[in-house]
Amino acid sequence: MSNNKYKILLVEDEANIRSFVEATLETNGYQVVLTGSCTGGLTMFSSHAPDLVILDLGLPDRDGLEFIKIVRQVSSAPILVLSARTTEEDKVSALDLGANDYITKPFGTAELLARVRVALRNRRFDTDEDRAPRNVFILDDLKIDYPKRLVTVGEKEIGLTKTEYNILAFLSEHAGKVLTYSAIIKAVWRFSDSGSVKKLQVNMANIRKKLGVRPGENRYILNELGVGYRMLDE
Ligand code: CA
Repeated sequence: MSNNKYKILLVEDEANIRSFVEATLETNGYQVVLTGSCTGGLTMFSSHAPDLVILDLGLPDRDGLEFIKIVRQVSSAPILVLSARTTEEDKVSALDLGANDYITKPFGTAELLARVRVALRNRRFDTDEDRAPRNVFILDDLKIDYPKRLVTVGEKEIGLTKTEYNILAFLSEHAGKVLTYSAIIKAVWRFSDSGSVKKLQVNMANIRKKLGVRPGENRYILNELGVGYRMLDE
């Protein structure tokens, strides 16, 4: 499938970042519409119905978080946040308001394109009701067989607890996308009062150890400090 059917709305007031993102996306076959303000973004969102929004949080007229809040009342179009802010709270707020992912400035071409691809793919999955359920997830030597609830690394079968498996399966179903602590806890423990960030971190440490990942090593799962976890994309 060609990329050129995808229209991306870029809401960013910094001229150098705007031209970098625009050039990168257009070179890769995406159609880009631009604005430098939150109000302009809302207007263009209605008139262009973009497939994806790339949104700067620090806009001159209104906070980018307000854009997310308003758009989410009417649309589930993926929103990718550009954040120069160093606090994790802004990223978590954006994700909890319904943003799909974020990129921290400064970022490179490869990272931008990877995030765009994942966000658009998630959108396709959301709207394609006929898609066949996926039975197997493969990432390097890691394989998850969902019907059998079986996890292997190479030839080795990995013995996970039910909770560890549920965490790993949930992350893999959203590979490439950051998932907040609260989103994972809600999905795995159902009622957030029976789960906690501490419990999640303990389980995650056990999962890494069982998968043979050494401390500090970024294999399979990235630790997005203060925000959550991201399973690497195939
Ligand atoms: Ca800005």
